[in-house]
Amino acid sequence: MSDMLEELKKYFKFLPSLGIKEIYLSLQAKEIFEKMRSKRELLEEIRQKLGECKRCKLYQTRHHIVFGEGNPEAKLVLVGEAPGREEDLQGRPFVGAAGQLLTKMLKAIALSREEVYICNVVKCRPPGNRNPQPDEIEACLPFLLDQLKVINPKVICTLGTISTHALLNTNIAVSKLRGQIHEWHGIKLIPTFHPAYLLRNPAQKRLVWEDLQLIRKVIEE
Ligand code: URA
Repeated sequence: MSDMLEELKKYFKFLPSLGIKEIYLSLQAKEIFEKMRSKRELLEEIRQKLGECKRCKLYQTRHHIVFGEGNPEAKLVLVGEAPGREEDLQGRPFVGAAGQLLTKMLKAIALSREEVYICNVVKCRPPGNRNPQPDEIEACLPFLLDQLKVINPKVICTLGTISTHALLNTNIAVSKLRGQIHEWHGIKLIPTFHPAYLLRNPAQKRLVWEDLQLIRKVIEE
């Protein structure tokens, strides 16, 4: 749908060069065009809906809401836990030490940050980087679900416990869930360890390498 929209936009931009300054659309066609907003516009609408959020207590200590960034047409969406200190200051996901490792992990499967979409379950930093609490996850989760539905990627990769448990609605350890393809609303979901955990436990990088290879394979299918 969104490819079609981009093609139509190009076509409409081309019309003036043919001397066509106006076109008439039926009411039905107008309605269809209005519904066909691009993924970028739909993500922007979700961001607007989030607004200057005060749905949970995290607004009191945050500097910036970290909504997420990347390609709205991404084949791969990576979902972390919540912003850390650096992310809170910059308003961007995964830009601290864990983020640098994530960028390297993506490079290992020939993907750049610009090609994928990166976001978190919770959009505001929990003080002192504590785990997000259940009420904070509950308040923020609907925005993540909307982001995922709009992007509709080929693969969702959950990074660590919080995002894996939130999307798969389970309490099973990531160490047991990783290495397999799960499903979220018809989209393949592959959990792996959080890069911050890998920084503390570098021996687990071998398993994450396997998960990355699986992700690459599914994207190429
Ligand atoms: N850890 C996360 O889970 N998300 C970020 O954006 C940064 C660190």
